[in-house]
Amino acid sequence: MEYFRENIKQMIGYIPGEQPSPEEQVIKLNTNENPYPPSPEVLKELKKIDAEALRRYPDPMANQFRRAVSRLLNVPVDWIIVTNGSDELLSIVFRACVGKGDKVAYPVPTYLLYKTLAEVQAGEVVEIPFDEDFSLPMDKLIDTRAKLTIISSPNSPSGTTYPKEQVDELAAKIDGLLLIDEAYVDFADEDCLELIARHKNVIILRTLSKGYSLAGIRLGFGIARTEILEQLFKVKDSYNVDAVAARLGAIAIADQQYKNANVEKIKSARAKMKVELERLGFRVWPSGGNFLLCRPPKNNAEEIYQTLKARGILIRYFNQQGLDDKLRITIGTEEQNGVLITVLKEIV
Ligand SMILES: *Cc1c(COP(=O)(O)O)cnc(C)c1O
Repeated sequence: MEYFRENIKQMIGYIPGEQPSPEEQVIKLNTNENPYPPSPEVLKELKKIDAEALRRYPDPMANQFRRAVSRLLNVPVDWIIVTNGSDELLSIVFRACVGKGDKVAYPVPTYLLYKTLAEVQAGEVVEIPFDEDFSLPMDKLIDTRAKLTIISSPNSPSGTTYPKEQVDELAAKIDGLLLIDEAYVDFADEDCLELIARHKNVIILRTLSKGYSLAGIRLGFGIARTEILEQLFKVKDSYNVDAVAARLGAIAIADQQYKNANVEKIKSARAKMKVELERLGFRVWPSGGNFLLCRPPKNNAEEIYQTLKARGILIRYFNQQGLDDKLRITIGTEEQNGVLITVLKEIV
């Protein structure tokens, strides 16, 4: 008897960025975590969590957190679905919408998880390569007539952000669902939130992993019209978000001042790092995220990645077509960025 579905056996599976153990003294600029700690209010709340909060099942809808999001973004509570990291939102959308042979379209290179999830569903993956400038391949995306179209804005690993008007047009011109992955929106100048009210086929993804420095608690959410969420709720686990995450998330999202201050530090460090890399001869793409995609002058991306790793600095190298000449560098603290640039000056 064959235990596994053929598509599962055929697929490679998602490979996360390296996660060295906390004792290892590395400068970790490879998975786009926020270099600053979460809000002190979050740590205070964490200390208040008692046995009773752990003994009981959590609220299946994480309503306390939903209300905090609703207040912040000024959207109705019933337009919000809370998930165990936003990766879980992606997983729920794929399970709810993509059946065998259904088309899933997205421009590449982008977040590798989209492909993994499509393969789990035995969907048909339609990858549209970006041009060198990473502009949105509008016509090609529309022509796929996919059931689910995904764009990441800002896109990882390129950092590119698409104008709202263009995404608006895309939503209007496709028949299927449009999932806009805004995991990095806190570092961008624009978002697509208002498109929810304008289109019935749009889902927006957000996370607390990047802007709010809470990758460890696994908390994300989606925003969409009630008709979409009704279907997604049927697919999620009953208690998908744990009590601790929901409670800490509500506190984090209420402390905008703290988050915004860190975001400003990261944005100015991003601008500075771009200039320094360009001075070293790198090509650097404009970024709305907390990272930069760059191409070294001597076309030796992998070598630079390895040399930095040997010296205790982790950045991201993707051994895949269109990316194997480039590097993605997460923006760290001033000090971390300084060390990186100093080492790069030696080795480039
Ligand atoms: C980090 C990331 C996510 C999801 O992160 P979670 O920690 O699961 O919320 C989603 N999309 C992109 C493009 C990301 O980089």
